[in-house]
Amino acid sequence: MKPHAARAGRGSGSAGQTDGRDGRDRARRGPLGCPAREGGQREGHGHHPHPRHSAPARAAPAARSVRAPAILREWIGLNPAEELSRRFGQPVAVANDPDMGGRGEHAFGAARSIDDFLYIKASHGIGAGLALAGRTYHGSSGIAGAIGHTRLEGATNLCRCGNPGCLETVVSITEVRRQLAHVLPAERPADQTPGDPPSLADLVTRPAAARVITDAGRTLGLVLADLVNCLNPAAIILGGELGAAGEPLAEGVRESINRYAQPASAKAVTITASTLQQRSSLLGAVATAIEQSTVG
Ligand SMILES: [Zn+2]
Repeated sequence: MKPHAARAGRGSGSAGQTDGRDGRDRARRGPLGCPAREGGQREGHGHHPHPRHSAPARAAPAARSVRAPAILREWIGLNPAEELSRRFGQPVAVANDPDMGGRGEHAFGAARSIDDFLYIKASHGIGAGLALAGRTYHGSSGIAGAIGHTRLEGATNLCRCGNPGCLETVVSITEVRRQLAHVLPAERPADQTPGDPPSLADLVTRPAAARVITDAGRTLGLVLADLVNCLNPAAIILGGELGAAGEPLAEGVRESINRYAQPASAKAVTITASTLQQRSSLLGAVATAIEQSTVG
């Protein structure tokens, strides 16, 4: 059976492994392997590759269901792993998008051979996959890394979470594209259809667009500077739709970290755009499915 993977989001879980704390269990997990989660465990399928699914909502592993009321409202109360398993006819595990993005970058992309790094998925929401000491850190209930809801001083836009001034009200892909449309209205290619926006990688070749993207990076960097102080990562990988902007975004993040993080921590961290771009989470799911197919 070939490993089968589907995109996955801010839930958590994996299957087919034990949750012991000794070196053998860590070795069985492999680099950044996820400890077994109740939400993803399927008894009797440990030898199978597990399809993995991620979606941009939070799934509490203990409850196995989507809970976050602000996103994917139609999913609330559903158990994605159970539902997808029923539809695919195969065992399915659910994991967070940023966690899988980090897993993908560690296996195939910009974080190979790095044990301490942050993968930032910056799209409509902003989440962080936290790879610490070679393990993915999920938090006590599987929803760590929700940096998009960090409050920004002076920001007042109402967030979908109900609070004003969250990071993702300022630098989400939606907001950045709105700003780009404002500064580049006359530069949009004539053959561009309304439903097919130009890629950020193309837009940032224009100076005005690069300024907008770098400003977004500076704002994102304000929040990441605090994380750098707290976690002392070796790398921050910028992914998601906004991450596709590449170096102008990384430049802004780097400026804020160099300005606001403690100098020794700022010096230790490398800021780069994702090399897998929007395939990070998918490839992380594939890597995890392959890993789990070989340890059962
Ligand atoms: Zn919020």
